[in-house]
Amino acid sequence: MTSRLNIIAIGAHPDDCEYYFAGTAAKLAKAGHNVKFLTITNGESGHHILSGAELVAKRKDEAIEAARRLGIAATEVLGHHDGLFLPSLEARQEVIRQIRLWLADVVLTHRPNDYHPDHRYTSQLVQDSAYMVLVPNVCPDTPPLRRNPMYFYFQDDFRKPVPFEPDVAVDITDAWDTKIDSLDAHFSQMYEWLPWADWNEETPPAGLEARKAWLCGKMDRPLGDAVRTALERRYGPEKASRVKQAEAFELCEYGSRPDPDLLDEIFPR
Ligand SMILES: [Zn+2]
Repeated sequence: MTSRLNIIAIGAHPDDCEYYFAGTAAKLAKAGHNVKFLTITNGESGHHILSGAELVAKRKDEAIEAARRLGIAATEVLGHHDGLFLPSLEARQEVIRQIRLWLADVVLTHRPNDYHPDHRYTSQLVQDSAYMVLVPNVCPDTPPLRRNPMYFYFQDDFRKPVPFEPDVAVDITDAWDTKIDSLDAHFSQMYEWLPWADWNEETPPAGLEARKAWLCGKMDRPLGDAVRTALERRYGPEKASRVKQAEAFELCEYGSRPDPDLLDEIFPR
C-alpha cells in the first residue's frame, strides 16, 4: 500500500458524504491522504421554499464550504436531477471515469438497500464500476486502473434484506466538532429542509453556537451493538468504552479485499 491513499466517497446528494463519512474523512485528510467527495445529483429537490435553480447554486456553495472546513482535497457536484436519478449506462461510465481519474485506492458509497432511490441507484452505479474500472475497452478515453480499489459502504439502519455489518469502525470523537462544522455548512439542509421534511418542523435556534449545539443533538445517536463490537475488536474493550462518536464501514465484495491488517492501516485510529 502506498503511504498516501486516494479516497473517493460517492454520495447521492450534497451532504451525504458529510453525513456518513465526514469524521473519518477529516482524519484521513489530516494524515495526508487525498480525499474527494463526489455527489451524483445536483440537490435541486431538497427544499420546500427555494426553487430548484436557486437550490442547485446554494448547495454547490455549501458543499465547497463543507470541504474547506474538513480540509479534504476536492469536492464535486454532478448535474443529475435530484429525486429523479436513474442508474443509466452513461452515468455508470461517468462514475468509472471519476474513480479512474482520482486513481482511487478506496471508494465509499451508500448500501444498495436504502429508503432513498437516489441512494440506491448511486450504490448500484458504484457497485457496477467495480472491476469495470480495470477494463481498458470500457471508457477507453480514460486510462484504466491497474488495481481494483477497495469498496466500502456507509453505515445505515436498514435491516432488510440484510442489516449493515461493520468491517471497520473509526473513533471520530476527536473529529466530531469538525464533522458538525461540515454539516453546519449545509445550512439549507440542516436548518431548513430536514427540520421541515424529517424532523417535524422543529425550528432551529438562531445564532451560530446555539444552532450548532442543536445540530449536535440531532446527530448524536447511540452507536449500536454492531458498531460497539467493531470498536472493541479494533481498539480493545477499555479504549472502545471511551469512544463517544464513531463511523463504521462495510466492505463491498466486488472490489479488492484487504486483509485485517491492511484494513486497520487504511482507516485512521
Ligand atoms: Zn441523500
